[in-house]
Order: sequence, then C-alpha cells, then structure tokens
Amino acid sequence: MKTQPPGLIDVYLAKRKIKKSIYRTPLVKSPGLREIVTAECYLKLENLQNTGSFKIRGATNKILSLSDDERKRGVIAVSSGNHGRAVASVAQKYNIPAVICISETVPRNKVQAIRELGAEIVIAGKSYDEASEGAEKLQVERGLTMIHPFDDPYVIAGQGTIGLELIEDLPEIDTAIVPLSGGGLLGGIALTLKSINPKIRTIGVSMDRGPAMFESLKAGRIMEVIEEPTLADALVGWIGKNNAHTFAIIQQFVDETVLVSEGEIAAGMTFALERHQLVVEGGGAVGIAAVLAGKVKEIGENTTIVISGANVDLPVLIEVAQKSYPYQNIG
Ligand SMILES: *Cc1c(COP(=O)(O)O)cnc(C)c1O
Repeated sequence: MKTQPPGLIDVYLAKRKIKKSIYRTPLVKSPGLREIVTAECYLKLENLQNTGSFKIRGATNKILSLSDDERKRGVIAVSSGNHGRAVASVAQKYNIPAVICISETVPRNKVQAIRELGAEIVIAGKSYDEASEGAEKLQVERGLTMIHPFDDPYVIAGQGTIGLELIEDLPEIDTAIVPLSGGGLLGGIALTLKSINPKIRTIGVSMDRGPAMFESLKAGRIMEVIEEPTLADALVGWIGKNNAHTFAIIQQFVDETVLVSEGEIAAGMTFALERHQLVVEGGGAVGIAAVLAGKVKEIGENTTIVISGANVDLPVLIEVAQKSYPYQNIG
C-alpha cells in the first residue's frame, strides 16, 4: 500500500487515469453572489458530476490502481451516501463485487441509488462511525479491499483534479471555498492549488453540528465529535483516529475553516435553486452558505466555490426551499 502523501504529480496522474469516467464540470459566474460580496464569484458545478457528486473522481482513481487479484476479490466502502454510490458505480462498470456499509441515517434516495447500481448494502449501526467499524470487520472476513472515502493518497489525488480544472478555467483564481468533512476534497484541491500558486487562499466550510476536522485543527490533534442530524448529511463522521493523510494536508495547505448553521445551509440550497436553477444537497451548499452569511474573512477578487453534490432527497429540498425563500436565515 502506498503510504507516501500525495503530491501535485499524483494529481496529474489521476487526471489522465479518470478522464474517461468523469465529466469536465462547468465553472459558472454567480451574479447574485457578486452583488452581495462585490467580488467575482464562480461556482464549480460538481453537483452535475457523474453520480451526482465529486466522489467518483477519487473512487475511480483508487479502484483503477488495484491489481487484478484485488479487483477479483472485490471492494468495500463505508459511506454517508455519495462515496458508496461512486464506488458502486465504478465497481459495476468494471465488474468488481462491491459491498457498501452505511448507517441507518443515510437518506433513502442515496440508499436507493446504491442499490440500483447492484452493490451489496450492509446497514451497520446508527452512525457513520459504527458503520466504519462494521466495514473493517467485513473487510477482513471477506478479504476485500477498502476504498476509503477520504484518507487515501489515490482518493485525495482524484479529488485534487478539481483544482487543476479550476486553474485551467480561471488562471487568475485567488480564493477557493470548499466543503469540508474528512478532507479528501479540500485536501486534494488545496495541495494542487498551493503547489501551483501559493498565493491562492484555501478555505474549508463545515456545518456547525459535529465538525470533526474543524475541532481537530483547533485542538491540534484528532478529535472525536458527536454526530447530529444535519442538512449537510454528506459531511457527517469524524476523521479517523489513525488519520494518515488528510489532517496533515489540511494543516499544511488550508488557510481558514468556517462553520455554517442549518439555517445558513438552507439559504445556500435555496439560493442555488432560485438563482442558478441548481439542485444542490446540504453538504454541497455550505460554500454558498458561508459567503451569503458573511462568514469568510477575506474574499478575493476571483473567488471560486465548489458545489460538491446534488443528491438531496426531493421532499427535503422542497421543504427547505419553502421555508427559507428568499434565503433568510431560518435558524
Ligand atoms: C464527501 C462529500 C463532501 C466532503 O468531502 P471530504 O473529502 O470528506 O471532505 C462534501 N460534499 C459532498 C456532497 C460529499 O459527498
């Protein structure tokens, strides 16, 4: 197993490897945000990505790095939904058996999508971390290869390809605002951007309900958090007591981390729907939420916001939009 931390070259290697499996998602201007913060704001639309989130990038890069023997034996993943869907999709494409461990809290639309891709679903426990423990046991019992959702050099490099696309589309980019949970997404993007231009500001956004990376950064060591229900269900879970990569990468390459409330997330989702006709899940809308709420200390002249996923359960989106239109804070 590769234990070296990923670098820029790994991101370029990932770019070539995953090219045929992913969409080159658009970067669009947001006139509405421009009005609010008086700086150009661009949205990177990974909600339009294959499987409805960026997770397909890292999952593809990791699975394509496995040996024939590992592929034959199969893969296992623990997921809050989107990573499981991505792994199931790649596994289906290459005829690899896949087991996805989820907790009882994963929204039904995400469970349904995983099931439709033919993966075996194991519901293990009431939280992401209980599902994690279940997956570790099954991995050993069945000789499967674990596809980690964030703490893996191939996964981080895969997510980092978003950073390359940001620079290609907007060489003058000076700020990147990115949803943050385990840190594969922000870690990959930040290491890519900072390696190419150290002046670019990198900012992570988490929900204020159980923000594991935020608390760990503050304490300077891995902190456990209590999982709470949140609109940003894709961001739940802690970063792992044996975190090997993402904690150090975030410490090294990230300038600022901010938290948003449930009402602010709802406002972000509603803004995306009303101003951009975009369906964005809670975890995908935290960047917009942070900008709307004035939480980011320094907004640059050319700010990019990663919209990381679309997979919201429709009744939830309808309720959120009805309650928070026109994007007032519903607390
Ligand atoms: C997984 C996920 C994130 C967080 O990614 P990490 O690599 O765990 O930080 C953000 N948004 C969505 C939609 C996700 O599925």
